[in-house]
Amino acid sequence: MRSIALLFFWLLVTTGCPAPRPPARPTQPPNEPGQTEPRPGSPQIAWKRVQTVADVPPAPAPGTYQVHMIDVGTGLAILVRGSDFAMLYDAGTNDRGEKPLRVVAYLAATLGPSGDDLCVDGGAPPVTRVKLPHVVLSHPHLDHASALDLVVHCYDIANFWDSGSINETVFYRELMSGIARSPTIAYHTAASPTDDRAISIKGTAIALPRWDRFSEGDTVQLGEGAKFTILHAEGKKLGDFNQNSVVLAVELGGAKLLLVGDAESGERKDPSYPVGDVEEHLVSQYPQLIRSDILQVGHHGSKTSSRRGFLEAVKPRVALVSTGPKMYGKVTLPDAEVIEELKHVGATILRTDEHDASCPVSGRIGGDAGPGGCDSWVLTITRAP
Ligand SMILES: [Zn+2]
Ligand SMILES: [Zn+2]
Repeated sequence: MRSIALLFFWLLVTTGCPAPRPPARPTQPPNEPGQTEPRPGSPQIAWKRVQTVADVPPAPAPGTYQVHMIDVGTGLAILVRGSDFAMLYDAGTNDRGEKPLRVVAYLAATLGPSGDDLCVDGGAPPVTRVKLPHVVLSHPHLDHASALDLVVHCYDIANFWDSGSINETVFYRELMSGIARSPTIAYHTAASPTDDRAISIKGTAIALPRWDRFSEGDTVQLGEGAKFTILHAEGKKLGDFNQNSVVLAVELGGAKLLLVGDAESGERKDPSYPVGDVEEHLVSQYPQLIRSDILQVGHHGSKTSSRRGFLEAVKPRVALVSTGPKMYGKVTLPDAEVIEELKHVGATILRTDEHDASCPVSGRIGGDAGPGGCDSWVLTITRAP
C-alpha cells in the first residue's frame, strides 16, 4: 500500500501535475452587451457586438474612447479611437477571399470611406482620403498583416510601427513597398536603420528614408488623455516571429489596454506552467504597467500564451479573444484551458468566433461569404467623473 502511495507521489512530481484550483466564479456575464461593475475612480467600460453598419457607434466624444476588435475571421485586427486620434493594431487573416476588404469596410464604417475603387466593395470611390494616424504591425505573420497593404493603400497613415523583423514573403514585400511609396508615412521599427535606410525582401530593395528606431519604454502620445508605452521591442530575427511581437500598454482616459499580439511563454502547455519568453519578460520587468482593464489575449488564446502567472499579473476585467475556424498547426484556437484560466481571473470574455459557422443576420460589414464579420466587438470607455 505504501509503495502505491509512493508511486502516486512520484508520478505527481515527475509529470508536473498542475496544482488543483478552486472552481471558476459562476457569475460570468453573458456574451452580450454589458459593462463593468462601477468602481469609484475607475473608468466605465461597456461593450456590444457589431455585425452591420447600423451597429457601429458614432465617433467617441471627448473624454470617451473606443476599442474595436474587428472580426476578421482567423487573425487579429484592433482599432483604438479617441475623439482626436485612431490607431489600428494589426489587420490580417489566415482565411482567403474577401477578408482584407472586410477590414477596410470596417474602417469605412467607423472612420469613413477612403481611397480609390480598390477600397470600396462595389459603388463609387469616396472623394476624400481619411487620416489614420497610427498603424502597428505586432509581427509579420500573415494572420496579422495580410490586410495591411490595402489599409496603407486606402488610408492616409502618418506613423507605421513595425517590429522590424523581416518576413521573406510576397505579402510582407507588398506591405513594405506600399509604405515606401507613401509620401507621408514615418516608418518606426525596433531594428536599427541600415546605412542606406533600405531593406531587401525577396531580392527587391525597398528604400525607407523616414526610418526611425523605437525602443522599450518609449511613450507616444496618441491624443487627449491617450498614450501608449512600448513594453516589448525586438527587431532581430529569432526562432519565431511571435517572439518579435510589439507589446503596447495603452492608456485611454484612465483605462488600460494591453496589446500583446502573439507574445508567448513558450511551448503549448497548461496555463499552470511557469511563464517564459516574452510573458516572463513582461511580468518581471513591467509588473505595474501590464496590470490592465482590457487584455488582447495573446496568440488567439493558444496554450503557448496566457500562463497563470501572466494573467494574475494583468488581472483583466475584459479579455478579447480574436480567432476563427482555420487551424493553427493541428489545433483551432482558443484552447479551452486558456478560456478557463481567463474565467478564473474574473475576466469577461469576448470572442470573434461565436458565429463562424452561421451568422444570424444579413448585411455583415464587408460581405457575407466565409467566416468572420459577425462577431466584432466595440468597447466604449468613459472616464471616471
Ligand atoms: Zn504569429
Ligand atoms: Zn497570430
